[in-house]
Amino acid sequence: MPYVVTSNCQKCRFTDCVTVCPVDCFHGDAEMLYIDAGACIDCGACEPQCPVHAIYEERQVPASETAWVGINAERAPGLATVSSKQEPLGTAEARKKELGF
Ligand code: SF4
Ligand code: SF4
Repeated sequence: MPYVVTSNCQKCRFTDCVTVCPVDCFHGDAEMLYIDAGACIDCGACEPQCPVHAIYEERQVPASETAWVGINAERAPGLATVSSKQEPLGTAEARKKELGF
C-alpha cells in the first residue's frame, strides 16, 4: 500500500521527506506535498523523516485523515515533482509548534 501525506504537512513543507524517496514520487503545490500513489514503491523511507508526522502508510492513516488518501492520489500526478530539499514555508515553525512537535 502506498504512503500518504496528511494535513500536518499544510503550511509546513519542510521537504525532509523528498531527499530519501528513491522514486521521486513527491509532488507539491504552494501549501504542501502529496505522494503519487501510482509511483510509490512502499519503501517507508520517508515516514520517519517528517518532523511533524504527516506521513502514514495507507492502512495506518488515522480515521480523521482518511480523506487524504484520495486527495494525494488525485492531486499528485498533476503537480510538479519535488525531489530536492527546499526552504520550509514561512509558517512552518509556527505550524510545527501548533501541532505539538
Ligand atoms: S517532511 Fe513532512 S511536513 Fe515536510 S514536506 Fe514532507 S510530508 Fe510535508
Ligand atoms: S514510501 Fe518510499 S517510495 Fe513511497 S513516497 Fe515514501 S520514500 Fe517514496
